Amino acid sequence: MSGKRVIIFGGDPAGVATALEQAEAGMQVTLIESLPGLGGERIPQTRIISGENDFVDPNLEAVMRHPNIRVIDSAEVQRTEANNGNFRLKIKRRTPRVDREKCDDCKACIKVCPINMYDDFNEGVGFRTAIDFFNPKTGQYNIFKEDMPICQATCPANLDIRSYVGLIADGKYAESLAKIRERLPFALSIGRVCPHPCESACNRGYMDEPISICTLKRFVADWEMKEGIKAPVEVPDEFHKEKVAIIGAGPAGLTCGYFLAKAGYKSVCFEALPEPGGMFRYGIPEYRLPTPTLMREIDWICSHGIELRCNTRVGKDISFEDIQKQFDAVFLGVGAHKGMKLQIKGEDMEGVIDGVDFLRDANMGNPINAKGKVIIIGGGNVAMDAARVSWREGFDEVHVLYRRTKKEMPASPWEIEAAEHEGIKFQYLVAPIEVVGENGRMTGLKCLRMQLGEPDASGRRRPVPIEGSEFVVEAETLIPAIGQRPDLAFVPENSGLDITRWNTFAVNRANYMTNVPGIFSAGDVETGPDIAIRACAGGRKAAEGIVRYIEAKRGK
Ligand SMILES: Cc1cc2nc3c(=O)[nH]c(=O)nc-3n(C[C@H](O)[C@H](O)[C@H](O)COP(=O)(O)OP(=O)(O)OC[C@H]3O[C@@H](n4cnc5c(N)ncnc54)[C@H](O)[C@@H]3O)c2cc1C
Ligand code: SF4
Ligand code: SF4
Repeated sequence: MSGKRVIIFGGDPAGVATALEQAEAGMQVTLIESLPGLGGERIPQTRIISGENDFVDPNLEAVMRHPNIRVIDSAEVQRTEANNGNFRLKIKRRTPRVDREKCDDCKACIKVCPINMYDDFNEGVGFRTAIDFFNPKTGQYNIFKEDMPICQATCPANLDIRSYVGLIADGKYAESLAKIRERLPFALSIGRVCPHPCESACNRGYMDEPISICTLKRFVADWEMKEGIKAPVEVPDEFHKEKVAIIGAGPAGLTCGYFLAKAGYKSVCFEALPEPGGMFRYGIPEYRLPTPTLMREIDWICSHGIELRCNTRVGKDISFEDIQKQFDAVFLGVGAHKGMKLQIKGEDMEGVIDGVDFLRDANMGNPINAKGKVIIIGGGNVAMDAARVSWREGFDEVHVLYRRTKKEMPASPWEIEAAEHEGIKFQYLVAPIEVVGENGRMTGLKCLRMQLGEPDASGRRRPVPIEGSEFVVEAETLIPAIGQRPDLAFVPENSGLDITRWNTFAVNRANYMTNVPGIFSAGDVETGPDIAIRACAGGRKAAEGIVRYIEAKRGK
């Protein structure tokens, strides 16, 4: 025996053959497989009740009996370290649910299992029991348990939905909120605005309807607010001496500050606008997220140990270099606030206002010249907000123009439906080509009709112009709402920060640190325009990265 040790990942036929080959050559082999057995197959439809074949595969038998081979199944490699040609692995193993020594392939468990659920391993066709793993080659049965329920895995913050919803069902509201706040401080706000991808994934939807996960979060947070209960502020008795600067008081920055405080680190948050909240405060309209509700939540978050400095634009009121010098770590959470241009003639005329700027003005209570007809360009949620706010501001007519059809619109269906109910008019398969006007003021928009062609990179069918289909829509105001980009002008050119081609900060997702040690980033400025819960999730993970960075620097 050479005594050399070999690790093989994957118990598929190739992994099994290699393991045998190496073991025969005298190596000590460890074969790691994530499923509960080798072969990697789950129970096929035809084998649920009976099976007549001989399932034993001689290769697998040989692997399992070979004295030089150790099989570790139901296992996941969590960390690999290399040192002078040697490797160390951290492996997490799930508990096997069926005792292999006792199982003799009688299938009685399948017959008596009370669980009867749709067969998610078979595209939802038919039903299966909980004994969902079957290796036809070895006759092994087991229960393949995912790390977390599908709803939790789909939530960008991986909220423990099963627990907090269950606690609500038990009437344990305070405990439910505490469970949510283990991973998210914004229960009141997110409970109002999250587009809840978790609900689209919820298994209950296969039976009747998904659990109302988002509304339940709102319910429990509203319960605390309406009962006048003071939310608990749980932080360590003493804070560490190191301080962190947070640039941008949006969901990402404030979530980062919240989790830093919980870990014993105070932060100072620099915010360009008069009030904190980012797009929660200045993007999302009041009727969807009332300012007093948002401010109650932000006051509570900041009371953990975040010093807010509003009306302080980094790059203007204080330099980025000064912040770098004064703090032990910096978090960049400046969002994506620069509206994308339509790139058409006449776009700089009076009467054209970008969607994000328009919504910020409305949220700040700035005067809006809401006369006549307004055209909104775009099919996303920002376009829907701009349209519904325009209607509330008192424009006579609100028209949304979108270059594809309703089916391809990225906006949430309930937002489109609400806009339709409010009387907003939608024109599909129309693209703007020129803003027309007189004396520098717009009077209308020249458009082209489109038809759908082949799918593009996004998977949606590409709009193709119909030649000679030009027409003009008369209007006093035009609001393009076709997307945003981050404004990184506050970062000096010599900062050395890696910036992606989407004008976002590049980070290592393991700790959310940029390429410059001590500078971290998350939220829209890292992902590009996205949903708020992903910004919160990024803020929390960055806080963990910052704590690890400071502690490593301190030599703890
Ligand atoms: C109109 C609109 C509606 C939306 N609706 C929803 C919704 O319903 N549901 C949902 O989940 N998501 C929604 N989103 C997206 C969501 O709001 C964002 O994903 C989220 O706010 C991003 O958080 P953030 O902290 O990364 O950035 P932001 O919320 O943008 O916050 C960044 C903050 O940084 C500040 N800042 C920028 N530059 C500087 C500087 N140089 N110095 C100091 N401060 C600076 C900004 O003023 C801002 O306050 C919406 C977005 C918009 C625009
Ligand atoms: S934050 Fe959004 S995605 Fe996560 S559990 Fe709540 S509603 Fe679902
Ligand atoms: S029923 Fe829905 S909410 Fe409940 S654990 Fe399953 S996926 Fe999650």
